[in-house]
Amino acid sequence: SRSTADWQALDAAHYLHPFTDHAALARKGTRVITRAEGVYLYDSDGRQILDGMSGLWCVNLGYGRRELAEVAYRQMLELPYYNSFFQAAHPPAIELARLLVEVTPPQYTHVFFTGSGSEANDTVVRAVRRYWDVLGQPQRTVIISRKNAYHGSTMAGASLGGMAPMHAQGGLPIPGIVHIRQPYWYGEGGDLSPEEFGKVAARALEEKILEIGPDKVAAFIGEPIQGAGGVIIPPSTYWPEIQKIAQRYGILLVADEVICGFGRTGEWFGSQYFGIEADLMPIAKGMSSGYLPIGGVMVADRVARVLIEKGGDFNHGFTYSGHPAACAVACATINILRNEGIVDRVRSDIGPYLQQRWRELADHPLVGEARGVGLIGALELVKDKATRQGFADPGEIGTLCRDICISNGLVMRAVRDTMIIAPPLVMTRANVDELMDKARRSLDETLQK
Ligand code: PLP
Repeated sequence: SRSTADWQALDAAHYLHPFTDHAALARKGTRVITRAEGVYLYDSDGRQILDGMSGLWCVNLGYGRRELAEVAYRQMLELPYYNSFFQAAHPPAIELARLLVEVTPPQYTHVFFTGSGSEANDTVVRAVRRYWDVLGQPQRTVIISRKNAYHGSTMAGASLGGMAPMHAQGGLPIPGIVHIRQPYWYGEGGDLSPEEFGKVAARALEEKILEIGPDKVAAFIGEPIQGAGGVIIPPSTYWPEIQKIAQRYGILLVADEVICGFGRTGEWFGSQYFGIEADLMPIAKGMSSGYLPIGGVMVADRVARVLIEKGGDFNHGFTYSGHPAACAVACATINILRNEGIVDRVRSDIGPYLQQRWRELADHPLVGEARGVGLIGALELVKDKATRQGFADPGEIGTLCRDICISNGLVMRAVRDTMIIAPPLVMTRANVDELMDKARRSLDETLQK
């Protein structure tokens, strides 16, 4: 095997990394992760690192689950690939469709398979427009999303997303996608209570619908909790108000469950945590615990009927829609989540424990707010806790803290100056304690610098 220096030289020479400052990467050298077990990563120098991010919010069952590798292996020997275009399908995809309908909220009767969360959101854009077209309202094309949302990196996914640095590259958003404010109480709530602010933030949807004209609006999309935007947990009043407004104007509601789905909040889906009854639900990541790439869109009965019975054909699909090995792994993932009671454990045991310990960090001089739900959390690093004033150069201290965390053997992500965790759902209390010790030590060292 190659040395770390060799890997880094090859990486620097040939590898264009996603969402990466390549100058900083060249300076620091790529960290080469060679293996993982349970909740720990190991790098090419043999260092052990606690994975506080489940890879990229996806390895919910932790690393090294042999049965997931074994079902993939067996499926590849039996039938490594077939499509579902040619009036055909195969057992793993059909079985997964059945299982998904069983574990998702009751309105969902169908699923469309994709290879990723981004493809799922592209599928949403096309399905929503197709739906209104079939119903004889082709002028309903506008999809309303939110600033600082993340819905993927394809042209439609990045357009649905509300990330200014993404829009700045490639001339986004594409036409027909507009953004309203986010329900970010800590940063934007001012003097309002969370409950008051939640309603104010939701009413921005009604204002936007009226501005555009209700007969032109097709759908609203939101992550139950904005993940990549900084783990923004809306006040409890937000989603019920959004739901009412969507109903009032008859627009479709889309809950992007790519991060929240499959147990992250302690419910199977973030929609259940917040009481959202959506029409479409993009899923990915935790669906296969990240072991193989797969995503999909859950489709509510009333939408499926229009697309299937009235529409007939939906001219959309991917070579890897419902890949057999990925479907087999997703089935096994869902069965493990169920059989081992993992979601219940997040809700009633490890989630509350992690949240209690996480909130203890709010006493740290750098931490303005420690928030979270289930096994997802954020720390707001601020200059002045009383006024919530941030640092002069946003992102500087977050990046520093992230690098210090890594040197202390912990992956914590930085979104500007918000530190984020979303560890594997299978964590033990000892793992939580270790995460907290490393996080506190890293905050102390960040403060000293
Ligand atoms: N939607 C949400 C809420 C996400 O967090 C992500 C990825 O982080 C995506 C969609 C895109 O998924 P993928 O990276 O699998 O394309």
